[in-house]
Parts: sequence; structure tokens; C-alpha cells
Amino acid sequence: MMNKPEQLSGLLDALKRATNREGFYSNKFKGIELGDIKTMEDFEKLPFSDKAELRDAYPLGLCAVDESEIVRIHSSSGTTGTPVIIPYTAQDVADWATMFCRCYEIAGITRQDRIHITPGYGLWTAGIGFQAGAEKLGAMAIPMGPGNTDKQLQMMMDVKSTVLCATSSYALLLAEEIAKRGIKDKIHLRKGVIGSERWGEKMRNRIASELGIQLYDIYGLTEVYGPGIAVSCDENCGMHYFDDYLYFEIIDPKTGKHVPDGEVGELVITTLRKQGAPLIRYRTHDLTRFVPGECACGLKYPRIDTIIGRSDDMVKVKGVMIFPAKIEEVLTGVAGASSEYQVVIDHIDGKDHVQILFETAEENKADVENAVRIAVKQKVGIMTDPKAVGLGGLPRSEKKSVRIYDKRY
Ligand code: ZN
Repeated sequence: MMNKPEQLSGLLDALKRATNREGFYSNKFKGIELGDIKTMEDFEKLPFSDKAELRDAYPLGLCAVDESEIVRIHSSSGTTGTPVIIPYTAQDVADWATMFCRCYEIAGITRQDRIHITPGYGLWTAGIGFQAGAEKLGAMAIPMGPGNTDKQLQMMMDVKSTVLCATSSYALLLAEEIAKRGIKDKIHLRKGVIGSERWGEKMRNRIASELGIQLYDIYGLTEVYGPGIAVSCDENCGMHYFDDYLYFEIIDPKTGKHVPDGEVGELVITTLRKQGAPLIRYRTHDLTRFVPGECACGLKYPRIDTIIGRSDDMVKVKGVMIFPAKIEEVLTGVAGASSEYQVVIDHIDGKDHVQILFETAEENKADVENAVRIAVKQKVGIMTDPKAVGLGGLPRSEKKSVRIYDKRY
């Protein structure tokens, strides 16, 4: 349903552009007769692209045009090794701004707005993406960058910023500072465009109510332009993405096959117009799902759900996908259970065994354990063996994202 047939010609064009000169994709697809790719099914047989390959192309191996056409580069984080460099042509830069401008428009932001941009500038795609979109819209960009809360708040008051662009954690920090300093009546914010991290409903509500603003999720990754390729609307039920620039697929990360529409899987992106560094079937490792049907806002752009985690964190037990955000959501709904937890999956006596360790302040642990067992059965669909420990009873891992331990392999 999401894979519209009219996108096929766009995909074939993208494939041609990506491979028409000696480079990354002509090498990658060596041995594949590209002329034989005529249908959506053929296209879906092409191998995926992964970040490791993009890294191997460092520094400029991804460049698919004459280097004289490149007007800018960006680079993704190098924390896990060699960075990935993405070259942009003038058209790529313009296309990105067009998409970002649409994001602002979908969020109801206009040229009357004053857009306070706190994401970082530099090799990152963050700050400059927010800025280019704002300028394209015709709004006033206030290119703050991150940090220096005093200066942020002073500028916010003096220039009367109306839109805050930030990560969720920084938006929360600013909201708390504003409350603490009692300056809320001097703040003119009306909307927030929040990107780049997974954030819960609780945090969203806190930021929205502390600042008295409406919030929008924005999505993107450096490999695919940067932030601004998808955004939530007033209906707040998923993010619209721009299918005239991008082709999205959602796959089972283990098998690589498409999941049924509406089910959670890993987002795979093909760029339809990108020139500097086109990507074919790029695995984002972000978990989401297509939101079926049309949005009540009336926009025709299809939707994906808010990113709910990384595919590396997802495991399949008894045919059911389990990921941290889902467990967290269930625990939040059980009185007495804290959101500090671990899931240990093991293979015992020929069966998958799922233990959920969680913290509780309750004296009667058996009652809370039972409540968690029932809630997980209802909301996730599997039987588990919950075990409650006292507050602080679980190790605080440095790498907080590791919540699920799969000992079966
Ligand atoms: Zn909508």
C-alpha cells in the first residue's frame, strides 16, 4: 500500500544515477544486470546498503558526480569508528531546504516566526538544516547552537523567539530553567520542533506544559540529507515523510523481508533525487512502522510512526517482536513498577524463556510481579517471568540503551 507503483520510475532513475559512473554503487552492484530491474519486486531484490560500507568509502568514495559539483560536505558521528562523509551538490542543498521548509509549514510555522535554533553547527547536519529551512520559509533564523543557557534565555526574551528547535533533553532543560527563574511571562515561544532522540510521552507532556507550547517531532539522518525528511503534524499521529524525494521500506531486520503494513520493523531508505551521494536501500537501523490510512490533517504525504528504538535492540521471541520502548510502555502502566528494568531471554528446556527484572518500592513484590505478567501478556502477547527487585537493585549500566539481553545465541 505504501509502495506506490508510480514511485517505480523514480526508483529506476535513482538507480541509474547512482550507478552511471565508476564509484560506490557501480562497484557494489557489479554482477547484477541492472537493465533487468523493471518492477518493484526486482528492485526489492537489490542488496541493502549499510553504514559500514559507507564508512569504508571514507573520505569521498560516496561521491556520485564530478567532484567540482560538490558544494558542501557533512559528516556523521565518528564515535563508533571512521566517520561517514556525505557530499552535497547545490541541488541537494536546495532539496533539503525545500523538505525542511515543508516540515516547518506542516508544523504551522510561518514567515512571521522567529526560529531559535539550538542544535549544533559544523560538520553535523543538525543546526544548518534547521537554518536553511527557516530561511527558505522566510522566517527569522536565530542560529544559537547548543549550550550557554543564560545566553539562550536572554536572547529568547530579547528577540522574542517564537519557535524552539532542540533535542528533547535540551528542550526539557530550558523548560526547567525558565520555570526555575520565573521568566515564563517573558518567553514568547509557541511551538517546538524536537528532533534526534527517542523520547517518551511523559517527557513530551512535561516540555509542552512547562513551556505552554505545541511540539512536533522531526526526523532525519545525515546519510539522508539530515533532519527534516519527516515531521509530525497537528494530529500528532506519526510523521509525514516526503515520498517525492524518498522511498521508504520497512523490513524485518533479521530476514530483510518487508513486514506487513502497519507492523514494526527497520526503516530502509532510497533517495530518489539525491545527486552527491545517492543511497539505494539504506538500512537506517531505526525502528518504526508505516501508519496506515490517510491522516486527518488532509496531507497526502504518507506517515511513519515516531522512531521507537534501534533495530539492534529488537529481538524476536515466540514469533513476537520485543523492543525496549514497548516494555517501558507496559511498565509505566503498572502501579508500583519503576521504569528501571532488564529483559533476559534464554533458551531453557527447548523453550524461549523471558525474564523481566524490574525495580519496585513495594513491599509485596509478588503482587507487582503478577501485575507485570498480566500487562505484558495483554499488551505484548507473550508469557514472561517477571522478577521484582528493590529500588537501585539493578546495575546502572554506562550504556543505558542495553536493556534486552538475548542469551539464546
Ligand atoms: Zn497529518
